[in-house]
Amino acid sequence: MNKIELLAPAKDLEKAKIAIMYGADAVYVGGKFYSLRSRASNFSLEDLKELSQFAKRYGAKVFVTVNIVFHDDDYQGIREYLRYLDKIGIDAVIISSLALIPEVKKEAPHIECHISTQLSSLNSSAVRTLKEFGADRIVLGREASMAQIEQIAKKVSVPLEVFIHGGMCSNYSGRCVLSNRMTLRDANRGGCAHSCRWKYHLYDGDREISEKDCLLSMSSKDLRASAYVERMIRAGIASLKIEGRMKSEYYIGQVVKTYRKMIDEIYEKGSLSFDRLQYYDLELSKAENRPADDGFLSGDCDNTKHLYGVNGAGVTHDYVGFIHDFDPRRNIAFVEVKNVFARGDELEVFGPKIDNRRFIAEVMFDEDYEPVELANRPTQLLMVRMPFAAEKGDMIRKAAKR
Ligand code: SF4
Repeated sequence: MNKIELLAPAKDLEKAKIAIMYGADAVYVGGKFYSLRSRASNFSLEDLKELSQFAKRYGAKVFVTVNIVFHDDDYQGIREYLRYLDKIGIDAVIISSLALIPEVKKEAPHIECHISTQLSSLNSSAVRTLKEFGADRIVLGREASMAQIEQIAKKVSVPLEVFIHGGMCSNYSGRCVLSNRMTLRDANRGGCAHSCRWKYHLYDGDREISEKDCLLSMSSKDLRASAYVERMIRAGIASLKIEGRMKSEYYIGQVVKTYRKMIDEIYEKGSLSFDRLQYYDLELSKAENRPADDGFLSGDCDNTKHLYGVNGAGVTHDYVGFIHDFDPRRNIAFVEVKNVFARGDELEVFGPKIDNRRFIAEVMFDEDYEPVELANRPTQLLMVRMPFAAEKGDMIRKAAKR
């Protein structure tokens, strides 16, 4: 049996490269056209080509989302676009319109058709039917329980992809017009303004019944399915998908690395102990800023899955710097400042090959070799001496108090 795939999102070329370097087997990205999250996309046609070449060097795959809900006018140019994706070696398109399957097969014969979660495929009949239409992979709806996923996997032969981490939608995966109504941004064409996460005043007629400090939100908790990864592997799921095409490089790096290590450990040891699961959950929490739970996987869809009034849990670790280069002769890291840190702070470095190594930032210089006491200018490049080696692409956060 093939090893399960870890599939990560990326907003731009830089983040897609981070996802691959930190251990993703595949990345999914949106071009500037035909894609939900189109507002988030910084992928030009040239960027897609560069990503495809970069991914091949790592043995990784690239999937491109073509998953808006199409209106007639949206079809303009789609054939040329598909031909281009095929030519540059894109591995799959993620689509939500079945009408695109024949177009893909004809115009881009080397590209797989993956059916988006937008189609809410939640049963084996739907999955089988989609396969008959020509789908090469089905992304299941996020509303299936683990037991239902296992049932579907037993009954079908087409590869299945399941969401394991990230934001959830209060409606069935984006089938929602809240954002259209309130902001004129169409969730089904990539413009969702997350209106469900706003805080609302609640009225009974003219009488406001929400307290000043108790405004109502309709937001779901985020998904964290770490406890189900082992069962997903045993069920024969093809791909585990992380949500978050709007997320930072820090989030992508930390979440991808954590699931990468977890998956590898399960394959190596056969299972994951409770202690190890707790360790991985702690690692995931370092990148989360909203409360998370197991979504629909437990089979219980009750009011504990929602956030009524509370929206953020706050990050436990501050991301403070990105290492662009490292001089091993002087043990100096060239660090782009991301958030404030000061000389004397205890910092933690993590990266594709380094696990949470801590040091005190005692020696820091700016470009003019002037000593720096406080790093508080985002994007400034500083030289920071470290007691161990790091690499380009490693990240630095403030260490949590022990
Ligand atoms: S507004 Fe909320 S429920 Fe609607 S599509 Fe956006 S995330 Fe989903």
